[in-house]
Amino acid sequence: MRDEYLTPEQLQTIKAILEEQLASILDQSRDAVNNLVEVREQDADPLDLAITESNREWTLRLADRERQLITKIRRSLERMHDGEYGTCESCGNEIGFNRLMARPVANLCIDCKTEAEQVESRRRVF
Ligand SMILES: [Zn+2]
Repeated sequence: MRDEYLTPEQLQTIKAILEEQLASILDQSRDAVNNLVEVREQDADPLDLAITESNREWTLRLADRERQLITKIRRSLERMHDGEYGTCESCGNEIGFNRLMARPVANLCIDCKTEAEQVESRRRVF
């Protein structure tokens, strides 16, 4: 049997944070979509239309980022359910409670995350 890593209390704390984040993103998305519909329904002169267009782009971009976050949160909750939450997906080490509190959707330990970012930045340079 695996040694206990995160205590049930710690898991509950993080689970509550994840669920709250998920609920608030879903709320915000609903608001954004509602605003979008409202703006569209107004009679608009060309200037307003331009603003509406950029609002629309912004909303879609936002929605895209939110969708990614929602996916990450759902995945974290699934891993929690499977008892895998809190371990690094790359090396299998413990991610650490403090890091998880700061970033509950983290799926890599700080070492692997740093390494991944270095690889990423080298890719950008060349
Ligand atoms: Zn790792």
